[in-house]
Amino acid sequence: MKKSYAFIGIQGSGKGTQAVLLAEALEYQHINIGDLLRYNVKNKTLLGAKVQSIIRKGELVPDDLVFEVIENKVSLLSKGVVFDGFPRTINQAEHLLRQFDLLRVFFLDLTEESAIERISARRVCQDCGENYNLNTQPPQIENVCDRCGGKLAIRSDDRPESIHRRFEEFYQQTSPLRYFFESHRLLSVIPAAGTIEEISRQILGLIMV
Ligand code: AMP
Repeated sequence: MKKSYAFIGIQGSGKGTQAVLLAEALEYQHINIGDLLRYNVKNKTLLGAKVQSIIRKGELVPDDLVFEVIENKVSLLSKGVVFDGFPRTINQAEHLLRQFDLLRVFFLDLTEESAIERISARRVCQDCGENYNLNTQPPQIENVCDRCGGKLAIRSDDRPESIHRRFEEFYQQTSPLRYFFESHRLLSVIPAAGTIEEISRQILGLIMV
């Protein structure tokens, strides 16, 4: 079975950033389910058509579609996988344990207040999907992507109506995973209020011991 790590945490807790850094450090494949789903919406695939309104409302996509996305994305050649935004339900967590050699789950712990603060500063490139934070990682030119020159925008599901629903989904479906993985002795809770570098150092430190 392929080795894997997973990140869970409230929206805005920095899962995406930390998952990329860990994947780079370990030379693992990085799989961000939200990005893959948005890619399908943007490119008007069959899957995109099925999930578009679900994502816009801030609800969770059905598990079978999420499993399909993962199955199609995992590379046979990769040494391992860092999952970002997966699992989000107990059923997904059980699937992960069945299909992968799960080495550790990082729960990035952030208050709802700080999460709202970060999300309101979040901007994403409409062309390449690169993420920015107006306070901590602003683009060099206002509203223009450093990487591809595309236009930056607020993610449609970061608007207040959807964000409220996404928080609700997090509390109801995802936060119980903390206890699920704790009981499997796979959980590390990481306070997520620090800087990107501090948190990354802490995660790498836990892996290297
Ligand atoms: P994210 O970019 O991780 O916040 O994900 C954006 C949206 O994609 C979520 O609000 C869900 O609608 C959907 N999504 C992402 N990951 C999952 C997952 N593991 N299970 C179900 N839906 C997901």
